[in-house]
Amino acid sequence: MNILIFGPPGSGKSTHSRKITGLYGMTYISSGDMIRAEISRGSGLGREMKHYLAVGELIPDVVVNSLVISRLRRDRGNFILDGYPRTAEQVLALENYLYDHGININVAMEIFISKEESIERISGRRVCPNCGEVYHVRYRPPKVPGKCDVCGARLIQRSDDRPDVVEKRYELYVKNMKPIIKFYKKQGIYVRIDGHGGINEVWERIRPLLDYIHSQETTP
Ligand code: ZN
Repeated sequence: MNILIFGPPGSGKSTHSRKITGLYGMTYISSGDMIRAEISRGSGLGREMKHYLAVGELIPDVVVNSLVISRLRRDRGNFILDGYPRTAEQVLALENYLYDHGININVAMEIFISKEESIERISGRRVCPNCGEVYHVRYRPPKVPGKCDVCGARLIQRSDDRPDVVEKRYELYVKNMKPIIKFYKKQGIYVRIDGHGGINEVWERIRPLLDYIHSQETTP
């Protein structure tokens, strides 16, 4: 089973990707995680990508394509791909790769939330710069305000989590995803999941669908 998962900032797609990975034993490939790893390594490429994120812009396709496709080459099939493709050029690169290797995507799933919900969820996020623990001022506050429960470091707000940057990211997401959603709709594999509500509520909307696809795949 191969899955594409999409969603605006704060949709919970990473959380649900991990649940899906755990349940079906798939490989989780997140373009966002790969980009952040590159940035924390402080490479030339990482510094370039950091700049785009800080101003709320998308990283150039050629950079993202080479990052993701080289990762896909290591695990052929049974993957969940998070946050990719996000532009027409990325769709082309992915389609070429899939065609060359005889791989099919079973479902292109979008977990959708409103702009207001996106801004509320993301701008309340605080991260520990020391150990990477993630908090939310409303949904997951630390025991001592502003301090990490795990290591005691002072929590920070990531520059791309500021409300004005989130709003820009959301609008870019909607604008860029429109033709991509149209493409996957035409292929008959697009599914939109309502991402509002708690994690378990959303999960109960996702799981029956994937159970169905999974059973179809394993039935001879
Ligand atoms: Zn910490």
